[in-house]
Amino acid sequence: MAHPRVSIVGIGVSPGIAIGPAFVLEKTNYTAHRWEIPAGEVTRELRRFRAAVAASVSQLRTFKRRLARDLGPQHVYIMDAHLLMLKDRMLLDGVAKIVRSERVNAEWALQQVIAQFREAFESIEDAYLREKAGDMEDIGQRVLHNLVGATHEQVTQIPEGVIVLARDLSPSDTAQMRKEWVLGFAIDMGGKTSHTAIVARSLEIPAVVGLEDVTTRVANGDPLIIDGNTGQVYVHPDEETVRHYERLRRRYHRYDVELHKLRELPAETLDGYRVGLEANIELPEEIPSVLEHGAAGIGLYRTEFLYFNRTDMPTEEEHYGLYRHLIESIHPRPATIRTFDLGGDKFISQVPLAKEMNPALGLRAIRFCLREVTAFKTQIAGILRASAHGKLRVMFPMVSELTELRQAKEILGEVAGELDRRGEPFDRDLEVGVMIETPSAAIIADILAREADFFSIGTNDLIQYTLAIDRVNEHVAYLYRPLHPAVLRIIRETVRAAHTQGIPVAMCGEMAGEPIYTQLLIGMGIDSLSMNAVSLPRVKKIVRATRLADAQQLASAVGQFKTAWEVEEFVKGEMTRRFPDDITDDGRQICLI
Ligand code: PEP
Ligand code: MG
Repeated sequence: MAHPRVSIVGIGVSPGIAIGPAFVLEKTNYTAHRWEIPAGEVTRELRRFRAAVAASVSQLRTFKRRLARDLGPQHVYIMDAHLLMLKDRMLLDGVAKIVRSERVNAEWALQQVIAQFREAFESIEDAYLREKAGDMEDIGQRVLHNLVGATHEQVTQIPEGVIVLARDLSPSDTAQMRKEWVLGFAIDMGGKTSHTAIVARSLEIPAVVGLEDVTTRVANGDPLIIDGNTGQVYVHPDEETVRHYERLRRRYHRYDVELHKLRELPAETLDGYRVGLEANIELPEEIPSVLEHGAAGIGLYRTEFLYFNRTDMPTEEEHYGLYRHLIESIHPRPATIRTFDLGGDKFISQVPLAKEMNPALGLRAIRFCLREVTAFKTQIAGILRASAHGKLRVMFPMVSELTELRQAKEILGEVAGELDRRGEPFDRDLEVGVMIETPSAAIIADILAREADFFSIGTNDLIQYTLAIDRVNEHVAYLYRPLHPAVLRIIRETVRAAHTQGIPVAMCGEMAGEPIYTQLLIGMGIDSLSMNAVSLPRVKKIVRATRLADAQQLASAVGQFKTAWEVEEFVKGEMTRRFPDDITDDGRQICLI
């Protein structure tokens, strides 16, 4: 009987193509039954629970050591987060309370507590936080398995040369995989920012996530193709598809070898014009990948993750320790730290705020910082102190008027005075930048440029606000067009205003990491591009094959078009013609072939 050919699209999170048989990793999710225990057994039951928690801690510590040995010390953060959850009082006390009050078995009590966590997390809109629910679930399952004496680990049973399929993979599962024996993996859950995706990228294992129900549609041994670039997955592909992907895989491999060679070379055009190519990071465990992909520095450090998944606020020491670690690990490269962009839908439990009708237009980013001044000052103090250890810069997100920049700088001045009194060293010439993310900031860029040391254009938000398109609403995703003439005009004006004042302009939104836009952005005068580390060599390849005059000609030619579609067609046509080896025919899957 012929097998049904299935093609599913998920989110490609780690580039590369894998062709091979499926291995479905069934994580047995243990379901606990409820039974009552005699009053005299409560203490013993609680001891049994504590022993299971202790066993889980010891397993995670083993993974942590393994991870540190194989991937470097930065990666242990993932395990630390899991270990911290095992100390969570809400978890431990919650279980003890149920065991005591209901006189029930610990498995049942634990399952109830995890279900409460799940409910609380599920109502959260922020994808990053929702992923945390998965981490908590994983921890819960680990303790449950230890309670019933079963093994939680199936990763060790994975045979060689397979594509691993799973509902979800915890970072500890992922960390145990090696590209020498796992061809790739595809999972139902997850998003681009999940720890699992980050680990997959650093291990260079092709991966697709967010497939929703792939595990129910594939059986062990089914032939499979996964494309970690486009997120495409084929089950029982026909011969022609297999041949096509085998060709792509060979081409991709050759391309990758070429990209590797570029890592140490400068991001310089054919006529010697230098473009800064930097990396965006959210988590310290991304640092090795940043260095490996030849970043000239970190152009955007999103510091929000520090605030998630905890009940207290990070201390000055924590901020300081983290930023110091960052700047020392990438020495002598510079790093730009963005002050926390919280509020709106990235809420944190530490600061209770009213639910907003329009979170994207609400009390977020710099607005939130200027209201929660103590938290802001704590972060600024950490940044300033870390600036004594390397070349740091700071920038403020979502500025929409000059007063906000002035107030933020005033607070920075106050914190600097305080550090002086305490005798703490810091960089007195710390550069202060503005993220250009709102149309109002772009329109008054000439005014802001007089009081800022640099600009960084955050196109993710700038496009959202300029085109009035909610960036997280999939129904209007089709309107999210970086090449819309309005967006291009606003970028051009921002660059002009900055350069008139003699300050540099970076770009750190997703647009900066897409090779199809590279020539255009260089031609428009953007001084540096900051992107996810994996994209760096791809963009560098375009930079190194570009002549500045050609880039400028492209940038000036797009001015003649009236619609986003016309600009897109033009840029696509030009880029496929100029870079036939790098940009695919549809112009969409930029350089990843
Ligand atoms: C942006 O808006 O382009 C940006 C870089 O910031 P974030 O994506 O974190 O909002
Ligand atoms: Mg932004």
